[in-house]
Amino acid sequence: MLRPTPTLDRVLDTVITRNPGEVEFHQAVREVLESLGPVLAKHPEYAEAKVIERICEPERQLMFRVPWTDDRGEIHVNRGFRVEFNSALGPFKGGLRFHPSVYLGIVKFLGFEQIFKNALTGMAIGGGKGGADFDPKGRSDAEVMRFCQSFMTELYRHLGEHTDVPAGDIGVGARELGYLFGQYKRITNRYESGVLTGKGLGWGGARGRAEATGYGTVFFLRDMLLTRGEDLDGATALVSGSGNVAINAIEKVHAFGGTVLACSDSGGYIVDEKGIDTGVLREIKEVERGRLSLYADRVPHAEYVRGTDTFWHVPATIALPCATQNELTEDDAVKLVGNGCRAVAEGANMPSTPGAVRVFRDAGVAFAPGKAANAGGVATSALEMQQNAAREAWTFERTEARLAEIMTEIHGRCHAAAEEYGAPGDYVLGANVAGFLRVAEATVALGVI
Ligand code: NDP
Repeated sequence: MLRPTPTLDRVLDTVITRNPGEVEFHQAVREVLESLGPVLAKHPEYAEAKVIERICEPERQLMFRVPWTDDRGEIHVNRGFRVEFNSALGPFKGGLRFHPSVYLGIVKFLGFEQIFKNALTGMAIGGGKGGADFDPKGRSDAEVMRFCQSFMTELYRHLGEHTDVPAGDIGVGARELGYLFGQYKRITNRYESGVLTGKGLGWGGARGRAEATGYGTVFFLRDMLLTRGEDLDGATALVSGSGNVAINAIEKVHAFGGTVLACSDSGGYIVDEKGIDTGVLREIKEVERGRLSLYADRVPHAEYVRGTDTFWHVPATIALPCATQNELTEDDAVKLVGNGCRAVAEGANMPSTPGAVRVFRDAGVAFAPGKAANAGGVATSALEMQQNAAREAWTFERTEARLAEIMTEIHGRCHAAAEEYGAPGDYVLGANVAGFLRVAEATVALGVI
C-alpha cells in the first residue's frame, strides 16, 4: 500500500482535525491521498496551488431541521443535509440518502467520493451528496410524502439545474423522488425537470436510469475481466444487498452467463444455488417493499439465514458488494480469496474496509473501487439531464448502449492512469489519479475561488 507524502500527510492531519469524529470521511480522504504521491511528483504545480487542500474542503455544507407529522398526529424532527462539495467541473451532482445512520460524516464521505466518480465519467458534473437520518422503512406513503415535502421546503432554495442536481441513493427511490419533485415544482412554480434525476418515466425520467448503476458495475467488471483474458460466462457470484443496485447487478450477471448464488438485506441473506430469481426478488423488494425472508417462502429450495451475519464465506468466483459502506471486512476478504474469488467490483460506495482492499490487492484479485465501478448511475443521470434539456426521450436500448460505452471509457481511463503512474492493474490508484487530474486541471484554470 502506498503512503501519502509529507505534504499529503499534513493535508490528511488537517482534514482529521477540522472534521472531528467523521471517520468515514477521514477514510475516504485517506484512500484518495494514498494514491496521489506520484501525481504530485509529476505535477508540483498542484501542490503549490493547494489544489488538494481546496478539494478536501466542501464549497458549502447545509444542515437543516426537517419537522413532519406521522399518521397518528405525532410530530417528529429529523436532520437534513446537503454537502455541495465541488463544482469545478459542473453543477453539484449526487444522490440523497434516507437512513437512520446518516450524519455529516457519511454525507461528506459520499460527497467527496462523488467528485472523483463524476470526473471519471468525462461529463460536466461536480460532486455533492445529501440526505437525512429519516428511516422510510415501515412508514406509510402519506408519512413519506410529508417528510419529503418538509425536506424539500428547505432544500429547494439551494437547488437548480445549473447549481445542484440531487438523485436517489439508499432509501430514496422513484416514490421519494416523486414527492420531492412535486414539492419543488409547487414552491418554485417551475417544471424544471433537470433539477432532480432518477425521476419516474411518466414525468421526465430517463429509460435505463433505474438499471444503470447495477448494469454499469457489471459492464466494468466484464471489461476488467477481459483485460485478464477472462469473462463472466460460467462464473458464480455473491451480491450483497437487494435494493436498486443489487437487483440490477444480479440481472446483468445472469445476462452474461454467470450465476448469482446469494443476496441479502439488513435482516438476513438468501442462498439459492440455482441462481437468484430476479422476478421474485423485484416483486418482494420493489412492489411489496417486503423482507428478503419472503423469498424462501416462494422459492422452496432457497435457504434463508436471519440475522446480521454476512455470506462472504459461500464459495464463488466473483463478489459484488452492493449494500453499504464498510460491509465487507478483512476477514470476509480472506474467506473470499481462500475460496478462489478472482474479481470484486463495488456497486456500493466504499463497501470494502481498507483491510479488505489490502487483502484483495495482495492476492492479485481484480478489484474495482466503487467510484469507478458504480459511476454508471450518475453518468446515466447526466444523460437524463441531457434528455430533459433537449426535451427528448431516448429508447432503453440507446441508453444502455451509451452506458456500456461510458463504462468502457471509465475502465480505460483507470487502466491507463494506473499504467502511467507505475501501478499496472491497480484500479484504486488508477481511479483516484484519473479523477483527480481532471478536477485539478479545472481547479487551477478557474483561479482561486
Ligand atoms: P437501496 O436502498 O435501494 O438498497 C440498499 C440495500 O442495501 C438494501 O437491500 C438494504 O437492506 C441494504 N442495506 C442498506 N444499509 C444497510 C446496512 N447498514 N446494513 C445492511 N444492509 C444494508 O439503495 P441502493 O441500491 O440505491 O444503494 C446501495 C449502495 O449503492 C449504496 O452504497 C449507494 O450509495 C450506492 N450507489 C447507489 C447508486 C444509485 O444509483 N442508486 C449510485 C451509486 C452508488 P434493507 O432494505 O434491509 O435496508
